[in-house]
Amino acid sequence: MSDQQLPDTHHLVVVGAGFGGLQLVRSPKVGGLRITLIDQRNHHLFQPLLYQVATTILATSEIAWPIRRLFRERDDVTTLLGEVTGVDKEGRRVLLDDGSAIPYDTLVLATGARHSYFGRDEWEALAPGLKTLEDATTIRRRMLLAFEKAERETDPAARRALLTFAVIGAGPTGVELAGIIAELAKQILWREFRHIDTRQARILLIEAGPRVLAAFPTSLSDYAKRALEKLGVEVLLGRPVSDIRADGVTIGEEFVGCRTVVWAAGVAASPAATWLDIPADRAGRALVDPQLNAPGHPDIFVIGDTAAVPTSDGKPIPGIAPAAKQQGAYVAHVLRARLAGKPDPAPFRYRHQGNLATIGKSAAVVDFGWLQLRGWLAWWFWGIAHIFFLIGARSRVAVAWSWFWTFISGQHSARLITQGRKAGNADASPTDRKTT
Ligand SMILES: Cc1cc2nc3c(=O)[nH]c(=O)nc-3n(C[C@H](O)[C@H](O)[C@H](O)COP(=O)(O)OP(=O)(O)OC[C@H]3O[C@@H](n4cnc5c(N)ncnc54)[C@H](O)[C@@H]3O)c2cc1C
Repeated sequence: MSDQQLPDTHHLVVVGAGFGGLQLVRSPKVGGLRITLIDQRNHHLFQPLLYQVATTILATSEIAWPIRRLFRERDDVTTLLGEVTGVDKEGRRVLLDDGSAIPYDTLVLATGARHSYFGRDEWEALAPGLKTLEDATTIRRRMLLAFEKAERETDPAARRALLTFAVIGAGPTGVELAGIIAELAKQILWREFRHIDTRQARILLIEAGPRVLAAFPTSLSDYAKRALEKLGVEVLLGRPVSDIRADGVTIGEEFVGCRTVVWAAGVAASPAATWLDIPADRAGRALVDPQLNAPGHPDIFVIGDTAAVPTSDGKPIPGIAPAAKQQGAYVAHVLRARLAGKPDPAPFRYRHQGNLATIGKSAAVVDFGWLQLRGWLAWWFWGIAHIFFLIGARSRVAVAWSWFWTFISGQHSARLITQGRKAGNADASPTDRKTT
């Protein structure tokens, strides 16, 4: 535990304006410090609704906010757009990819996680994951292009492959994606095409484990599986994917022709542990001490998805937004104590608030431990909770309106193919298909 006192001109550098970093900088407790907030993107992203951008329900601007704007009235906060590539611990400097360095007195790394392809990095180009707005619009483009190409395809096998969509990984993101893709194909698009029946599309949700939503109680997993099947999703459990190519996926020994594949199976932490040269767990998360400091470095904190925090019961803290926010708030608390010359507060303690996931536009599962909800009621709870956590009235109204419109009209308002028609599974030429 550190009892250091911070001078008023103390320079706090926060890397990452995700859930953890933003919670810290927005805390009134860090008022009085000089703060620099660095992010490689100019926006804070509400990742829990990213799947709705990928599946054409929401527009990108409804779930992302310019970081600079969020702090326009905070003269103590400087926002910098830049990618951090390392940390000079001895010199107390953050290193950026353009060769520049930013000095710090206290550093907080809140750089989140990225996809992990379990050593098969070559799959990334064929099966994009969902982490950024670019990922979401890439998936949206590939999915919509597949329908467009199927409309013009005369070969039945090729058309079948274009109308087969595989989502790999049945955690909340995989379940949410598969449910909406099924609704889009089977309830919305079919009236608009003349040469294909989009209701014949196959939506595969492929999971190596024995059930969907493994973090939920078995009864809610079973409910989610039934709800997905009712929407027309084929749920394949205990079936690991052994290969992905431009023309399809191999599930165990079985090859399925398929031109749109989405990866929702694994994440790995950002390289914060490598930058700091400190031990990491198997997912690459930096092993921090109970104060969330890098071991032996009271001036460096690591929080959120990129940190592995020790817990009294040994259970890992889940990689979810509330955990990152609680850690951001805790670091603000520690810094406030140090500013006042007081001892550090008690070690960080995570409070789990529950798990939520939706299945299509009318069902969800909610698990608070002491209370479990499913179906309509759970969907309403899920919707209200997500609207509450968005930033600002404009976004709340915009998202609520988009959902209301989708509900009454049965239409998705963001069905746009953007970024041109460049390479993706659906775009691969027959030659590509044979050689990739
Ligand atoms: C598709 C999806 C759905 C999800 N759904 C839910 C959900 O329903 N409920 C829930 O609680 N959680 C959900 N999560 C998880 C949740 O979003 C994360 O746990 C949370 O974002 C972690 O917060 P963080 O601050 O650690 O990292 P993030 O919020 O990921 O923020 C990291 C920030 O660091 C920046 N950054 C990264 N590397 C660098 C660098 N080298 N230099 C500069 N900046 C950098 C990034 O641009 C980003 O802004 C979901 C995640 C995804 C991807």
